[in-house]
Amino acid sequence: MVAPPPIDGVLALLDELVAFDSVALTPNVDLIDHVVAYLRPHCTDIALTHDETGTKANLFATIGPAVDGGIMLAGHSDVVPVDPADWATPPFTATRVGDRVYGRGTADMKGFVACVLALVPRFAALDLVRPVHVALTFDEEDGFHGAPILIDSLGDHPRPASAIVGEPTGLQVVGAHKGCYEYTTTVTGMNGHSSRPTEAVSAVHHATRWIGGLLGLAGELADRAPADSRFEPPYTTTNVGVVGGGLARCTVAADCAFEWEMRPVQGTDAGFVKERMAAVEADLLAEMRTVHPGAAIETEVVCEIDGLEWDEGSPAIALMRSLLDGDPPTGVVAYGTEAGLYQAAGIPSVVWGPGDIAVAHRPDEFVEVADLEACLEVLTRLAGVLRD
Ligand SMILES: [Zn+2]
Repeated sequence: MVAPPPIDGVLALLDELVAFDSVALTPNVDLIDHVVAYLRPHCTDIALTHDETGTKANLFATIGPAVDGGIMLAGHSDVVPVDPADWATPPFTATRVGDRVYGRGTADMKGFVACVLALVPRFAALDLVRPVHVALTFDEEDGFHGAPILIDSLGDHPRPASAIVGEPTGLQVVGAHKGCYEYTTTVTGMNGHSSRPTEAVSAVHHATRWIGGLLGLAGELADRAPADSRFEPPYTTTNVGVVGGGLARCTVAADCAFEWEMRPVQGTDAGFVKERMAAVEADLLAEMRTVHPGAAIETEVVCEIDGLEWDEGSPAIALMRSLLDGDPPTGVVAYGTEAGLYQAAGIPSVVWGPGDIAVAHRPDEFVEVADLEACLEVLTRLAGVLRD
């Protein structure tokens, strides 16, 4: 049996990580460089991949032999923004108050990352048969920009057999979440006086018809839901959250833009919605262009995050069952994570980590020290798996 490292080491690492104000969409290379310096003596390989500016990096580190079949411990390095005025403690200082550590990212998800980093020297000192990999991404919290770049590079490395994505689940095993596909659609028509609508093309009217087409899919999406769907509601939903366009009541609107999303319960539903909306759009455009050939409907992808689909036979769930000794309840969550992307890339994944999602993304975010201790103890049991 390998004993867990002391919790003081985890708390010291958490102090260091929280001190980097690695807010999503801002550079994170300082944090990654710091982690690389820590990992360097213990790793057989450390690979970084960057965004096009070079100011943001993903890390993929390997401890142990360069063979397939290892375990990937995955997290994101970024956090959501703060308004320090709302905080009782400085947000970028890990502050111990009683049994809790406060600070941005303590729950989501630098607490998990600190546990993983604390274990690396332990794992490196063992005679591992299979490797453990540490994956750290950028911009998870705003568009999931980092993980796809990291996934593209995974072909250059040994292939992990499973991934644990350490989002704050209160240490409950999460085997599925819906996808999150976000878009902004812009409709361009032609303005005119509202008394002569046939000589203009209303972007607002055509946008409402487009939106009507989207909302009209609700019944079919409900019918498509798998009978054993674990989600609530069990089917894929859509939402139009923001609409803007036009100038005045008496003017035909030349522009209208709307922000919308869908949360697929299965990958095929996203394709279904896109196919249907392409047909709706083609009809609208044909009509619009009889009056104004320059009319357009353009959709910008904000993000397309695959859901984590339930897989009873998943090696990642089997791994968690062995680590947690028995048959832990395995649930689903409503929020998206990188686990869906890793699963879609062929790496069976679960979501499991310390901290409560209810305090993440809020002022006075915290993690219980007991949660970190429990996380550390369970992850330490990976030593047994990796030596078999
Ligand atoms: Zn997170």
